[in-house]
Amino acid sequence: MSVVGIIPAAGAGERLGADVPKAFAFLGGRPMVEWSLDVLREVCGRVVVAVPEERAHPPDFVAGGATRSESVRAALAAAPEADIVVVHDAARPMVTVDLVRRCLDALEGYDGVIAAVPVTDTVKEVEQGEVVRTPDRGRLWAAQTPQVFRAEALRRASEGEATDDASLVEAIGGRVRVVEGLPENFKVTTPLDVRVAEMLLC
Ligand code: C5P
Repeated sequence: MSVVGIIPAAGAGERLGADVPKAFAFLGGRPMVEWSLDVLREVCGRVVVAVPEERAHPPDFVAGGATRSESVRAALAAAPEADIVVVHDAARPMVTVDLVRRCLDALEGYDGVIAAVPVTDTVKEVEQGEVVRTPDRGRLWAAQTPQVFRAEALRRASEGEATDDASLVEAIGGRVRVVEGLPENFKVTTPLDVRVAEMLLC
């Protein structure tokens, strides 16, 4: 079985306010993407990274697209040999080898497995400033990456646009299982996140 890692790392990261794309901003003394690259390389036979066009260096550093889904599609197209795909955002540098392995181990009988954590806040659905619904918190999980898929399922699903890959697989009727992720595997989005991540990584 060929296990290929895919790291979407082509986002601008405007909310971070750095002068380089987010995945290349320095975090704990190295470009953020390298933390995830080290972890995925321990578990995957090959890792393909979707990067901003000017940083592309095929075959393993391919030009990403205007959206995260486009970037994942570009990386997937560069890995036709993949039987299993591990998608992990460069923006989550605190991922661990153990978490990726737990996702892979849970794939039997499913099309995909995602890391996710139960939400601790009560979540409101809001329209024009007014609460329209309060979903039952006991059923809500916040999706993280890694997200692991049978490559064939992700290829069939990947034409759409979504904020994560599992929702595309769900939309074509795929079965997606959840394994408990890590609270520290949060997405680095703001300058505050960078400070917290550096405290944890260094
Ligand atoms: O936009 P967000 O912070 O949710 O991005 C999650 C991941 O997707 C990041 O690692 C980012 O670099 C990547 N991304 C991408 N191509 C885009 C937009 C985001 O690879 N066009």
